[in-house]
Amino acid sequence: MSSGILMEMTLDEVRAFAPETVVIGIGSVEPHGPALPYGTDAFLGERITRDAVLAANRDGARALMYPTLPVGNNVNFKAFPFACRIGVTTLMRVMLDIFAALEEDGIRKIVVVNAHGGNTDTLRAALRAHVDATPPARRAFVCMPDLLTADGITGTYCDHAGRIETSRLWHVREDLLRQDKIGQSPVGEPTVAALAGHGIFYVRPWHAFLPRASEGDAREASRECGRQQVEAATTALVALLKELAQAPWHENFPYTKCESGRT
Ligand SMILES: [Zn+2]
Repeated sequence: MSSGILMEMTLDEVRAFAPETVVIGIGSVEPHGPALPYGTDAFLGERITRDAVLAANRDGARALMYPTLPVGNNVNFKAFPFACRIGVTTLMRVMLDIFAALEEDGIRKIVVVNAHGGNTDTLRAALRAHVDATPPARRAFVCMPDLLTADGITGTYCDHAGRIETSRLWHVREDLLRQDKIGQSPVGEPTVAALAGHGIFYVRPWHAFLPRASEGDAREASRECGRQQVEAATTALVALLKELAQAPWHENFPYTKCESGRT
């Protein structure tokens, strides 16, 4: 059995592998304060996708790992240097092109593993546009589990370069964590009190919201917390990939197949 890591496989191995599902990780390259590297989201997306594909394939899931996309949307970071970004409609177009190419390869199940909150709305819009634009008979089922954009244990809001993300990076790339720089970062409050918290959506100017590009108190971060977070996300993705492998695709997937073929 091949690994399922496309970039490490040969043509013969890919042909013999006959993947059932393709997993696409997507992150971001942007400032993460004084202690974490720009590539934090991309590293986390890559690690979880890779570990889950390897584990699921050991149980016969035939999941293929697509190259992790490192750059996404982050217009909220415009005041910081070299926050790498492409436009909202460009990212949608990229995803739609990738889905279409995979459909030409016969793939009917795709999992998008998003590691960056700034990508979420665009990726969801791309999933809707994909359904709108693709005939059901050749349309892949695409889903996007919320594995990294929320706290993996509580399911609540996940900080940016705060306690949770610092912990995750600590577990995944300890070599890149500036441990001596872990500390407390100021969090700006809006002058309109009703806009505090995360209940109302708007695009925050992050240089005012998080002037250090890191959020809150990261001094409670730990490698153990990071291990728990990353393993919870990986375990959930493994379970999804194994279940997807066993469920035959049809036009109403994942719901009951209708004889008429109509939804
Ligand atoms: Zn991040």
